[in-house]
Amino acid sequence: MHYDENNIFARILRGEIPCQKVYEDDHVLAFNDIAPKAPVHILVIPKGAYISIDDFGAHAPAEEIKAFYAAVAKIAADHDLQGKGFRTIANTGLNGGQEVPHFHVHILGGKALGPMLAS
Ligand code: 5GP
Repeated sequence: MHYDENNIFARILRGEIPCQKVYEDDHVLAFNDIAPKAPVHILVIPKGAYISIDDFGAHAPAEEIKAFYAAVAKIAADHDLQGKGFRTIANTGLNGGQEVPHFHVHILGGKALGPMLAS
């Protein structure tokens, strides 16, 4: 599958669209979701052009994968989520309900989130 250079997160990475940044390093950017589903709702994205978690896991260098998950852990700690817990979601493809075709992990927390999926 072809990576769409004009997806909304690619445009955020290029600075064409603003975001509420919460974390950045050489490999990772994280920002608040524009339509939060919980008191804390942060999107973590790699700076590299990966469509989905399977694209990222199959093709990203180890350094980028390590930086990504280290960033998730740091963001959770910085937002005081580690004690009470939180949820990470990586929607993938059509059945996964992925809207933006640039790999991202949602970090959700700040309240009890209930069952994993709406029934
Ligand atoms: P997905 O369904 O692809 O896993 O989630 C995409 C997420 O991106 C949604 O939660 C949506 O609210 C968020 N989103 C879409 N456009 C923007 C935007 O321009 N800025 C920010 N900060 N979030 C966005």
